[in-house]
Amino acid sequence: DSCPEPVKMSVNERTFIAVKPDGVHRGLVGKIIARFEERGYKLVALKQLTASKGHLEVHYQDLKEKPFFPGLIDYMASGPIVAMVWQGLDVVKQGRVMLGATNPLASAPGTIRGDFAIQTGRNICHGSDSVDSANREIAHWFKPDEINDYASPFINSWVYE
Ligand code: GDP
Ligand code: MG
Repeated sequence: DSCPEPVKMSVNERTFIAVKPDGVHRGLVGKIIARFEERGYKLVALKQLTASKGHLEVHYQDLKEKPFFPGLIDYMASGPIVAMVWQGLDVVKQGRVMLGATNPLASAPGTIRGDFAIQTGRNICHGSDSVDSANREIAHWFKPDEINDYASPFINSWVYE
């Protein structure tokens, strides 16, 4: 009875991943998408948009007291973002591992930030930090009919056992 609940991992877990304006300007969209595709995750939504400051202030609501917040909003509103939803087993946590640390100088080589970025304020990509954040962020960036719930027999058979 004192046993903890087993961690429930789902192949239908989803996370919100975005290429920030610096990643778009630098031509890194394809490389970032490729890492998630090559890992075996399934792309279920994608669009390019230039976000309003109001939209970004809600996205980053937990950081509004931070001194860097106004600069963060200006940076994120400065150009187009590529917003995506990726799906698969443990994708929220694995997405964070693939992105690397918030500060690219602390990110291991082989991570996206560790390979392509240097400063925290230009770290080229976003990834949800928990399943709860992912659900909130996906609903904030996508309408339900922009998310594609499709079967992928190849992934089902050859990425998962
Ligand atoms: P993340 O989840 O790894 O993206 O990091 P946070 O949620 O803590 O911060 C969100 C974003 O704010 C980061 O990705 C950075 O773009 C930016 N940021 C965080 N900390 C700093 C900082 O100390 N200075 C600056 N300039 N930007 C920061
Ligand atoms: Mg964060």
